Amino acid sequence: RAKARGGGQHCLFNADLAAEHQQKVETEKALTDAVQRDEFLLAFQPQMSLVTGEIVGSEALLRWNHPRDGLRLPMTFIPVAERTGVISELGDWVLGEVAATVGGWYRDGFRGRVAFNISPRQLDRPDFFTRMRQAFRDAGVPLSMIEAEFTETAAMEASDTVLAEIAALRADGATIAIDDFGTGYSNLARLRAMPLDRVKLDPSLIEDIETSDKARVIVQAVIHLIKGVECEVVAEAVETVAQADILRAMGCDTVQGFVFAHPMFEDEFLDWMRSADQGAAKSVA
Ligand code: C2E
Ligand code: MG
Ligand code: MG
Ligand code: MG
Repeated sequence: RAKARGGGQHCLFNADLAAEHQQKVETEKALTDAVQRDEFLLAFQPQMSLVTGEIVGSEALLRWNHPRDGLRLPMTFIPVAERTGVISELGDWVLGEVAATVGGWYRDGFRGRVAFNISPRQLDRPDFFTRMRQAFRDAGVPLSMIEAEFTETAAMEASDTVLAEIAALRADGATIAIDDFGTGYSNLARLRAMPLDRVKLDPSLIEDIETSDKARVIVQAVIHLIKGVECEVVAEAVETVAQADILRAMGCDTVQGFVFAHPMFEDEFLDWMRSADQGAAKSVA
């Protein structure tokens, strides 16, 4: 009987696997088609210094303009893209689009820095850094206008080869950031040795700082740690003035959040940057 039941489970397992596989194949195809049909867009969100109030940079964030569902946020498709491997095509699209867009801005006299997100999977391809440099060179974008964001775990797991590439990129003027700090694990010795300029605190670290003493103690300790290794601290998803005030008092350098700007598509973003007193010229980091 046990054997029969085991066999039944085995069948069920196979059926589930088949369905899961089918769905994976369909999503993979949908995403690949969407890349080819050019259904993706970048939104840009400004970052503000808590010390001077100046705009010190921005982050490019991926959006899928889905023909049926409308605008879709990364959480609805990036994890699938990572599981299926389509992230390398999507990542290539992002790279090309960032290069083309920032190249255009550069020719228009804009010098602000633009960050973009790199998925851990993209680092598996040995030619990633070569292609990145090529994309920016071809588009006439100086590396000083570019910030590469790696997730905490990707940074911690990076091979020596990848670390050397990151160090070289930084030596050539790019800004290097760790994203979502505080959600993965960090090897503190590794953090010290990383070629690194900025660390972005994960929103989960700061969401309760207005109400929780413990949350404040942890954020303060993390800020000390990051500044102790001579990196800039960026707080993400800052939604209230009270949060920004607490972060400033704790020595956090920079904020990115709805408290002063949402992610915007190119035209709106450029208008926003122009009307912000601290526009283009002063935003050179
Ligand atoms: P992330 O890189 O940590 O980006 C910050 C996220 O916080 C963005 O979500 C942004 O819209 C959101 N955010 C900014 N300010 C606020 C705020 O005040 N409150 C709240 N609740 N959220 C705020 P988004 O655009 O949905 O992106 C989510 C994640 O998807 C990103 O997190 C990043 O991990 C990933 N992602 C986005 N674009 C790309 C991309 O081009 N490539 C890759 N590999 N991943 C991307
Ligand atoms: Mg376009
Ligand atoms: Mg990011
Ligand atoms: Mg983040």
